[in-house]
Amino acid sequence: MKTKSLFLLTAVCGCLLLAACAAPSARKADGQTPSRPETTVRVLLAEKQKTASFKHSGLLYIYTKDRSKRYKISNAGTLSARALGGGKVQAGTLQSAQPVILEPAPGKTITFNGNAYAGKMYLVPDGSYFHIVEYVPLETYLYGVLPYEMSYTWPAEALKAQAVAARTFTLKSMETTGKRYFDLYNDVRSQVYKGTGKVYPSVKTAVDKTRGQILTFEGKLFYTYYHGNCGGATDSVTSWSPSAKAIKPLSGAKCGYDKHAKNYSWQQTVPLAKAESYAASLGLKGKLKSIKVARKTKTGRATNITVRTQKGSKTVACGNFRSAFGLKSCKITKLSLRKKDVLFKGRGSGHGVGMCQDGANGMAKAGKNYKDILKKYYPGAKITLVKDL
Ligand SMILES: [Zn+2]
Repeated sequence: MKTKSLFLLTAVCGCLLLAACAAPSARKADGQTPSRPETTVRVLLAEKQKTASFKHSGLLYIYTKDRSKRYKISNAGTLSARALGGGKVQAGTLQSAQPVILEPAPGKTITFNGNAYAGKMYLVPDGSYFHIVEYVPLETYLYGVLPYEMSYTWPAEALKAQAVAARTFTLKSMETTGKRYFDLYNDVRSQVYKGTGKVYPSVKTAVDKTRGQILTFEGKLFYTYYHGNCGGATDSVTSWSPSAKAIKPLSGAKCGYDKHAKNYSWQQTVPLAKAESYAASLGLKGKLKSIKVARKTKTGRATNITVRTQKGSKTVACGNFRSAFGLKSCKITKLSLRKKDVLFKGRGSGHGVGMCQDGANGMAKAGKNYKDILKKYYPGAKITLVKDL
């Protein structure tokens, strides 16, 4: 269960993305053939590379973006790439100042950093480095996201809810790509994605059965945040990011289906030395005197924490505090400064906004379907098809 950070960019839809925006997947939920090409997602796999190595499982095409230079390798093997400096990249024997594309033949994959990918790999030169971006169709991309954001062993209806949330999150994120050369990160800054070399049947079913389905509010996409466990109730997005727009689907909901999970209630200790160095990082000198919840939401999630030393005090956003201390969540029910450590007791894991994944699991086990799940955690949102946007 990964928690993603709030990642809002304000740039407008750029020219590269316009094609994707204008021609989203149009396949109907009943599986009819799409009338328009499917959206391509550009996922950043690695940035600022000097060298990289790619294992290809069979026939591989290598060409420049304008296809003026191209060749192919027929058999499985390893291809090396390196930055040549001055905005050039070399892949195998091909050198170019343009992006170089590695395209596996249908049914073949390219393995990079231990994960296998079936899409086209773009090596984008940039000064003395190059970046690696996979171009992958939206629905295929989801096959490589779901098992890393929710266990593939979970019930079908929970996985289907996750598929709709992840699909919506992807398309919403793409609205803010701007002129960047990629759309999403392959980690918690966007959604965890590890390629589609291994596709779990349960995940494939969940994605395929909800193909093209997204959530909208008042006719628009929104950031369908999700998290591990809400500890009884989710919160408004503003509790986590005061500048975010407080729309109804992200205003919080009662859960009641997550008590079975291990993250529902927890206890953690943090060494005093770590707490002291955190205080020092805030510019607070002297002995640590207290750490207190300064403000919390109605559901008990801390939004601000006050750290006090002999020399002064500072109040910080809990999100910042939480990541520095490695806490599961900001739903802190007990906080004690002790002789050698700081004891925290709390509930839930993650930011607590949007869908509670343990709750989705609980609801599915209780016989609810994915529409019930989405309705509960994104109140007021409508399930629609990409083509109806
Ligand atoms: Zn919950």
